[in-house]
Amino acid sequence: MIARDGANTSLWQDTAAFQPGQQVSTDTVFDVLVVGGGITGLSTALALQQQGKKCVLAEAWTLGFGTSGGTTAHLNNFFDEPYYRVSKHFGPDNARLLATAAKEALTAMERNISDYQISCGYSRRPAYLFATDAAQAEELERMSEGTQDAGVDMAYINESPFPIPYQRIAQLPGQGQFHPTQYLHGLARAFESLGGLILEQCAVHELEHRGQQINASTDRGILKALYAVYATHIPPGVNLVHFRCAPYRSYVMAFRLRSGNYPQALGYDLADPYHYYRTQEVNGQQYLIAGGADHKTAHEDNTERPFRELEACVRQYFDVASVDYRWSSQYYESVDGLPFIGQLPGNPANVFTATAFGGNGMIYGTIAARVLSELITTGESAYKTLFEPARIKPAAAFHNFVSENAAVIKSFVAGKFAAESIPGLASLAAGEAKLVRMEHSRIALFKDEAHRLYAVNPTCTHVQCTVAWNQAERSWDCPCHGARFSPEGKVLNGPARKPLEPVQITGL
Ligand SMILES: Cc1cc2nc3c(=O)[nH]c(=O)nc-3n(C[C@H](O)[C@H](O)[C@H](O)COP(=O)(O)OP(=O)(O)OC[C@H]3O[C@@H](n4cnc5c(N)ncnc54)[C@H](O)[C@@H]3O)c2cc1C
Repeated sequence: MIARDGANTSLWQDTAAFQPGQQVSTDTVFDVLVVGGGITGLSTALALQQQGKKCVLAEAWTLGFGTSGGTTAHLNNFFDEPYYRVSKHFGPDNARLLATAAKEALTAMERNISDYQISCGYSRRPAYLFATDAAQAEELERMSEGTQDAGVDMAYINESPFPIPYQRIAQLPGQGQFHPTQYLHGLARAFESLGGLILEQCAVHELEHRGQQINASTDRGILKALYAVYATHIPPGVNLVHFRCAPYRSYVMAFRLRSGNYPQALGYDLADPYHYYRTQEVNGQQYLIAGGADHKTAHEDNTERPFRELEACVRQYFDVASVDYRWSSQYYESVDGLPFIGQLPGNPANVFTATAFGGNGMIYGTIAARVLSELITTGESAYKTLFEPARIKPAAAFHNFVSENAAVIKSFVAGKFAAESIPGLASLAAGEAKLVRMEHSRIALFKDEAHRLYAVNPTCTHVQCTVAWNQAERSWDCPCHGARFSPEGKVLNGPARKPLEPVQITGL
């Protein structure tokens, strides 16, 4: 069983742990240090190694620990940000360029699977978008026009493989799906077979720049390289990109169905937030995988509620026999709907990142591998400008950005002043967490099932927002930029670099 950054077990974790092979000397000056062992890091490291670069990949935990181990792995040539909006904000040529990037990424994944014989349950499937009311039907019409204008096939049809009622339904052929951690492990084996080095349990802390060379301090000593790529889902430290994206949490459940009537397709309604469906066979068992009930990170007091809502939605339409898995995971959305892939603003020219993939990171992570490997090997990429992290926001997206930030400020103030009082400590039940105000400080408390008490300072070590408890995944999550911490304060997700400060409680 592989590890993940949450307490719930995802369908993809029942996979044998990856055993990194070689032990190349870490005295080597590598061409590229790739930080992070999710789809972005592994795809990028493999692409660079294929192009003759000598790469090391450092993962703080184990491969697939981040969102790539908690994804649902729909592989699409359309995105959460519909093509009509990309066309409106970035121009029709860029909408077509985005469609080309997606098509090339799907081909690149297929090539990896076939060249390296990666057994990961990959298949091509059609996708169906269903509008369940008049407003959604209007949105579907805009999406359909924009998608076709971008050069992607999308057509209205009259039947659906999903037992979900609709007003209108459209099909997009040629989408894909796979078992994500099996794919990641396949990429890792391919990378090693080409001479790449993988270091697990190797968090990268700081990058020190010595001329052209980077000396990275890590859990396993100094790693030297000429380039660094933060494939950490969100780059660490405080950076411009943190103020141009917002963290969200999405919920997933895997069901067995009584009828055995599993739709062999990908499906999406157009609700806000939307629900997404697909089927995957894992260890000989078919599962209906449904996701949705998204909310901004730390903006849901009761993280059981989204699971209940999702389950109720699925039970309305499908003959559920059992819920076998349920988990949630985090993603980042950018202010203008497109990801940030390229040189990391405010850093030397040899530091890169890829982030803000929304719910499309399987494809964007693969696109990032192409863009970053081209930028590192040639300095150019056809996609450089489109995904430039330092790009100026399109004016139309500004309203969106302001409301994202307003929510952050609100929760910051509320978190500081709405903390609970000291009697809360005495009544804290096993499995429960509380934010308690004591004298002039606040304490984040959690008592586990063995009645062990964990107490930490709830001030996020990134930019001092107040963390909130995520009961479903047993973590302290920051509403501002998505840093997440274990009950004892260990960093689970960046951008924070430092753990939450421990608090000592006496007289217990
Ligand atoms: C519930 C859910 C469903 C989704 N479904 C889909 C889908 O169907 N299709 C799709 O395309 N996308 C989907 N996405 C989005 C997609 O899963 C993500 O965008 C993608 O997995 C991100 O991959 P990544 O490699 O960039 O980041 P991650 O997978 O998070 O990997 C980053 C890695 O970096 C490591 N790391 C962090 N800091 C350090 C450090 N300092 N040193 C060393 N290592 C470090 C972490 O431990 C982690 O393993 C979904 C997202 C969610 C939340």
